[in-house]
Amino acid sequence: MDPRYPPAAEEYRDKIRGFLGEQLPAGWKGIGGLDTEAARRFVEEWRTVLYEHGLLAASWPREYGGGGLTPLEQVVVAEEFYRAGVPTGGPNDVFGIQLVGNTILHWGTLEQKARFLPRILSGEDRWCQGYSEPSAGSDLANLGTRAVLDGDEWVINGQKIWTSAAHLANWIFVLARTDPDASKHKGISFLLVPMRQAGVEVRPIRMMTGLSEFNETFFTDARTPKDNIVGEVNAGWGVAMTLLGYERGEAAATFPIMFRSELDRLMALARETGAASDPRVRQRVAWCYSKVEIMRFLGMRTLTKFLAGGQPGPAESTFKLFWSEYHKIVTDLGVDILGAAALTPSGRMSTGFQADDVGAPNDSASWTTAFLMSRAGTIYAGSSQIQRNIVGEMVLGLPKEPAAPSQGASWRDAHSQ
Ligand SMILES: Cc1cc2nc3c(=O)[nH]c(=O)nc-3n(C[C@H](O)[C@H](O)[C@H](O)COP(=O)(O)OP(=O)(O)OC[C@H]3O[C@@H](n4cnc5c(N)ncnc54)[C@H](O)[C@@H]3O)c2cc1C
Repeated sequence: MDPRYPPAAEEYRDKIRGFLGEQLPAGWKGIGGLDTEAARRFVEEWRTVLYEHGLLAASWPREYGGGGLTPLEQVVVAEEFYRAGVPTGGPNDVFGIQLVGNTILHWGTLEQKARFLPRILSGEDRWCQGYSEPSAGSDLANLGTRAVLDGDEWVINGQKIWTSAAHLANWIFVLARTDPDASKHKGISFLLVPMRQAGVEVRPIRMMTGLSEFNETFFTDARTPKDNIVGEVNAGWGVAMTLLGYERGEAAATFPIMFRSELDRLMALARETGAASDPRVRQRVAWCYSKVEIMRFLGMRTLTKFLAGGQPGPAESTFKLFWSEYHKIVTDLGVDILGAAALTPSGRMSTGFQADDVGAPNDSASWTTAFLMSRAGTIYAGSSQIQRNIVGEMVLGLPKEPAAPSQGASWRDAHSQ
């Protein structure tokens, strides 16, 4: 691990700070300082600014509207944006740019790149992710959504669940079974499916915070052209795994900044409420501080690897496990410090799945929603148990976990040899 950035990165940092200084309104404290409606408008306007300056998809080649930045420049941009509390895109961009866009860049045909990538950046196409199903989450390869070729079109039937931002999207990337006779991982294809058609229905799911950020998505004879497949027919599992790697990309650089800002807010809350004089609270705050520092160094370790040309791999599970489990504990502390006030939350709610936006006020609702949302952080993009399995088996080389017995067989039957 090398915790220093080369001089060229610092020069570029000055340039990005200059850009932010020119573009952001005077007295800007971070998007958390805006109310919900003003924040929504800001994200839309800011997305256009990023698009016009080639910073919306900083890593993409310029020919597709990207910034063509080096990996080090991308890290600097992400860091400075997070520090300033400005988003790097809109609500569907994590699916459009980071996930499916990068995957199309990796696996797509020239026609697919030319057709889909510019439309993602212009905002014409807004994407969501159709992976999970009621019986396929951690065991994703168990998915049962079917796609059958009918002339020049795929006909899709089945159900996806937990589809974040599907209500805002007009395209969905779908993992579907195209060969039901092949073994689990071998008969799956990666399809690009338009959502504005009679065969696709999106139903909201209400979360325990009261918000509805994800949905159930039903496919009933939904159609997509034959060529809207990424990679080969029945070879979608490899494409799906490439995409999951991109899910962890930016976090190493930006999460330590975001969680440090949240911790500063927690310390302010402890002072305001007088809890800071309680030695038990002080001890818990100190524990959180040490975790955010460790997160910073874990992030640097990952960045050192990426900047040297390494790809995301099983070791990155350590980072996901670390920040998501930490977030449950720091938000427990926030709620404990609030005490009875946590039972009657008021003010601005936290909306993200990680720490609240930079500049957010220290409202009780912010801590209570962050407390509830932090539970989701240990589930999406692979639950903590799955991350531990990955670290155990693929990083530490421990024996594989025992396979669950097939239906009808007892645990003893499955392990009798
Ligand atoms: C906020 C949020 C947003 C999401 N957005 C999307 C989205 O946009 N698109 C999408 O496709 N999906 C999305 N998901 C779904 C997410 O990927 C799944 O919830 C996740 O993969 C877990 O699957 P599951 O919910 O079916 O739980 P299950 O796989 O049924 O797991 C249930 C429990 O069993 C444990 N478990 C399962 N298998 C093992 C094992 N082998 N060893 C040990 N423990 C195990 C799990 O850790 C978990 O605690 C989202 C989820 C959340 C919470």
